[in-house]
Amino acid sequence: MRLLAVEDDPAIRADIASALGAAGFQVETASDGEDAWFLGDTEDFDLIVLDLGLPGMDGLTVLERWRANGREMPVLILTARGAWHERVAGIEAGADDYLPKPFRMEELIARARALLRRAGGGRAPVQSVGALTIDTNRMTVTVEGRPVAATALEYRLLSYLLYNRNRVVPAPELLDHLYGDDDAREANALEAVITRLRRKLGPGVIGTRRGFGYYLQSPEAGQ
Ligand code: CA
Repeated sequence: MRLLAVEDDPAIRADIASALGAAGFQVETASDGEDAWFLGDTEDFDLIVLDLGLPGMDGLTVLERWRANGREMPVLILTARGAWHERVAGIEAGADDYLPKPFRMEELIARARALLRRAGGGRAPVQSVGALTIDTNRMTVTVEGRPVAATALEYRLLSYLLYNRNRVVPAPELLDHLYGDDDAREANALEAVITRLRRKLGPGVIGTRRGFGYYLQSPEAGQ
């Protein structure tokens, strides 16, 4: 899952990035409103954490502009403590949830996961497709009840396929959601990850549609 964290305070920004990174997200950051607006408007994020008090362009304006441009990713706003009017204005501008400052990183992670579940159709924290089961709270992977030791990258890949279980995910999109801008992100790197994962998971879990992309195989869908 690819997430954008927008926060101008460098210490809080670093804390958010490391906590959400450890929770299995691929995190990118922005420190002012202009950058945030541009990134959210031009790139594809599964979730955005947006501080409202930002230099350049305030968070509320950023959010309003995204929504006005038809950008529909889930957005969780960070608001000043006690500023109920900020929460109201944020939700009216199209925020999906809010968290008043100061907050515990555990709560941010829990809310981020809940928003993603809602965006993915309100699924339970433990989800299965075919033989594969992923526990998104514990970040564990099992195949027919057998635990699989997945790396952080492999876990991200599987959870993204699970989140998009009803379609074939094109390789370039998968790359976007797995790697940051600076990482090695060639298509052959993706193939190497898929090959390694298939060895761990066994056959019949990750399907390939040649020339299109990857999907999770499910007997019910006849794939
Ligand atoms: Ca701020």
